[in-house]
Amino acid sequence: MQFVPEKYSLPDAPMQPFIDVAEIERYLQTACGDMYSVQNVVRKSLAKCRLSLSEVAVLLNAESPEAVRFIKEAAQELKTAVYGNRIVLFAPLYVGNYCVNDCTYCGFRATNDAAVRVTLDAQQLIREVEALEDHGQKRLILVFGEHPGYTPEYIAEAVRTVYAVKKGHGEIRRVNINAAPLDIAGFRTVKAAGIGTYQIFQETYHPESYTMYHPRGPKKAYANRLTALDRALEAGLDDVGIGALFGLYDWRFEVMALVRHTNHLEACYNVGPHTISFPRLQAASYVNTNVQFAVSDEAFTRLVAILRLAVPYTGLICTAREGESVRREVLYYGVSQIDGGTKLELGGYADASHSVQNLHREQFQLNDVRTLATVVDELLDGGFIPSFCTACYRKGRTGEHFMEFSTPGFIKRFCTPNAIFTLAEYLEDYADDALKQKGYALIEKNVAAIAEDAVRATIRHRLQRIRDGMRDVCL
Ligand code: SAM
Ligand code: SF4
Repeated sequence: MQFVPEKYSLPDAPMQPFIDVAEIERYLQTACGDMYSVQNVVRKSLAKCRLSLSEVAVLLNAESPEAVRFIKEAAQELKTAVYGNRIVLFAPLYVGNYCVNDCTYCGFRATNDAAVRVTLDAQQLIREVEALEDHGQKRLILVFGEHPGYTPEYIAEAVRTVYAVKKGHGEIRRVNINAAPLDIAGFRTVKAAGIGTYQIFQETYHPESYTMYHPRGPKKAYANRLTALDRALEAGLDDVGIGALFGLYDWRFEVMALVRHTNHLEACYNVGPHTISFPRLQAASYVNTNVQFAVSDEAFTRLVAILRLAVPYTGLICTAREGESVRREVLYYGVSQIDGGTKLELGGYADASHSVQNLHREQFQLNDVRTLATVVDELLDGGFIPSFCTACYRKGRTGEHFMEFSTPGFIKRFCTPNAIFTLAEYLEDYADDALKQKGYALIEKNVAAIAEDAVRATIRHRLQRIRDGMRDVCL
C-alpha cells in the first residue's frame, strides 16, 4: 500500500455528545451502597432487566466484603441463567499499525519512532488467515491503526480477502472490525463486505481526560468518536461494540458511562451494544503505565460483575491483555467471549520466529500467551463449552446475544446445540487425541443433560454427521 503524507481533515460531528459528567458524578456521590440497597438492585437485575444509572451507582458504591461477594455471586447466577456454560472464542488479527493519532498510552502512536510499522499486503494477510485457520479459529477481529490509507474500501477489501481464505476444513465465518470511526457512507461500505461487529472503544468517557490522552490527530475529537456507533447504526449495521480503556480515569465513572452509552443506543436505535469491552491499560512501547487511575485486580473483577448485572443481554469480552488467573475468574462473573492463541505482532501468526513478545512491534503487552488448544483444554476442565458458533449471524439472526437473552428457550434450542457442533468440528479437525477425548466427554455430559428426547436425538444425529466429515452444521 502507498501511503499519502499524514494529512487528514477532522470529520464533521453533527451528532452531539450524550455523556453528562455532572449527572454521572452526582449519581456516584449520592448512591448508597449498603447491603439493603444492593439487594434491591440485584433483584431487578436477576429479573433480567437492564439497570438504570442510579442503580448501577449503588453497585459501584458497595464496599463491604459481603456486598461485593453478593454482587459477584449474583453476576455468576445471572450469567449461568442467561448464557449457560458456553464461551465464544476468537482471535484478533492486526492488519496495519500505521497511525496518525498520538494516543499517549499506545505503542502505535504516531510519535513513537521505535514502533515497527507494517501494513500486511494481500498475500501476507492470506498467510495470517491460513495460520489462524490451521489452529481452528473461526471468528476474527481485524484491527487497524488510524491512517488515511485505511479507507472503508481498504477495510472492506481486507474483510473480503479473509472470508475467501479456505484451508482444509478451515474457514473464517465471522469477521469483526476494530478500527477508527467512519462516516455513514464508510460504515455502509464495510457493512456491504459482510462484517459482524464494528467495535470502537471510547477509551475514556471523561472529556477533559480524553483531551489530555489524545493530543493530536482525528481521534482528538471526543464527540466524533462518541457518536461513531450512532453513525454505524444509522448506516444499517446492527452489531456494534463499545468499550473503555480502564486505567485512564476513575473506573467507576467509566462503568457508569458505558451504561449511559448503552441506554443511549437503546433509546435511539432500539438496540443496545452487541458487546462491551473493558481492556485494562498494559505496558507498551515507551508508555508510562504507572498511572493514578490504575485498576487493581480486585476492582477489575468487581467491575466485570457489575457490568454483567447492569446490562444482562450484552456479550462481555475479556482479552489476553489480562493474565490467566484474572481471565479464569471473570469467566464466572459474566464474560462470554475470550481470545485464544493471540499474537499482536503484525505477521506473527504465520511466522513462527515471532514467538517472543517485542513491545516495539506490538500495540501493548499480552499477559496470556496460551495457545488456542491450551485455552480450549482449560475451558473444558472448567466445565465450559468452548464455542466457535456463528450460527445466528449466518442464519440472519442478528444481535445474537440479544436473541439468546430475549427469546425463551432459545439457548436450549439453538445456542447449546450449536456450540456443541462447533466444538465437535474443532475436536475432529484440530485436537490431539487427549483433547478430543476430553472434549467429547464434555459434549456427552451436556447432551445427556438435555431434557427433550427429540432435541437430544437431533444433536446426536448431527454429531455423527460431523464425525463423518460434514462441516458448518448448525440449527
Ligand atoms: N486504532 C483504532 C482505535 O484506536 O480505535 C483501532 C483500535 S486500537 C488498535 C485497539 C484498542 O487497543 C484501542 O481502542 C485501545 O482501547 C486499546 N489499547 C491501546 N493501547 C493500549 C494499551 N497500552 N494497553 C491496553 N489496551 C490498549
Ligand atoms: Fe492509533 Fe488506535 Fe493506537 Fe490510538 S489506540 S495510537 S488510534 S492505533
